[in-house]
Amino acid sequence: MQMLDGKLASAAVKKQLQEKVLAHISQGKRAPHLAAILVGSNGASETYVASKVKNCEEIGFESTLIRLDEKVTEVELLAHIEQLNNNEGIDGILVQLPLPKHIKEQAVIEAIHPSKDVDGFHPINAGKLMQGMDCFIPATPYGVVLLLQHYGIETKGKHAVVLGRSNIVGRPMSILLSNASATGNCTVTLCHRNTENLASITQQADILVAAIGIPEFVTADMVKPDAVIIDVGITRVVDTTKKSGFAIKGDVKFNEVAPKASFITPVPGGVGLMTIAGLLTNTLKAYEQNSVTVG
Ligand code: NAD
Repeated sequence: MQMLDGKLASAAVKKQLQEKVLAHISQGKRAPHLAAILVGSNGASETYVASKVKNCEEIGFESTLIRLDEKVTEVELLAHIEQLNNNEGIDGILVQLPLPKHIKEQAVIEAIHPSKDVDGFHPINAGKLMQGMDCFIPATPYGVVLLLQHYGIETKGKHAVVLGRSNIVGRPMSILLSNASATGNCTVTLCHRNTENLASITQQADILVAAIGIPEFVTADMVKPDAVIIDVGITRVVDTTKKSGFAIKGDVKFNEVAPKASFITPVPGGVGLMTIAGLLTNTLKAYEQNSVTVG
């Protein structure tokens, strides 16, 4: 079994991005700029946004964090997005999800201009992804692709099983793995909460991607020997032995699945770090496409 180390792979991606930023700056251009909006003070969201901002700084991007009160109205939030859409100095915009219940997530996703949609959630980018066109790929499945690339994992002709059909992870993951590309060409089965005889399907997976949000759901008996296991799940579970009071768990029962797998991602230290690598790659792409105005 070999570990798919998100720390190593994301460092390699970030190094390449940093070199590209330096090259742009040496030509007298400004740095790429990501704007993040955080509504309220959800602990996990705070951590994710802080990490995104920190990673921007590490590779020479500028970042702006806009914190809004939990009670902000949808109209006010949309007005902030409109300002960022119209600001030529901003290349990428992300609004950290989930949002408070009184705000319609879909309205927010659709308000971000597709050319600045570095999370890749806008229907225009989702539609382009489906048709194999150039687009912003949602950061988490993009991160998984970058990880597979980094470790040279062959996907062509393999049976990939994806657990979870969300618009941000499972569904785009299934499209990427089935696309005619160097990290695609799989035969893909997409499973969800209504899938029957799930274990009989996961047992056929050469590549198994778990993105359901149920801690340690995938057990050794559900996995084919020598499968590649990608664990996207991140759930906080109460753990009184930790200072924080919680532990982070993936969707895979790591200790029993790892000995059976050929490659496996740890949680934490796997896909989460690659998600940031995907986001930063998208931000540089937005910046380069925005180069007419980058002075
Ligand atoms: P979601 O709640 O939107 O979707 C969960 C999916 O799992 C649904 O499609 C549902 O049908 C499916 N599902 C639920 N129970 C199932 C079962 N018993 N069998 C098969 N399928 C089942 O979640 P999401 O936003 O896609 O996130 C999934 C997980 O990935 C969460 O733990 C989330 O925290 C994590 N996540 C991690 C990253 C990262 O950077 N590593 C990024 C995004 C999400």
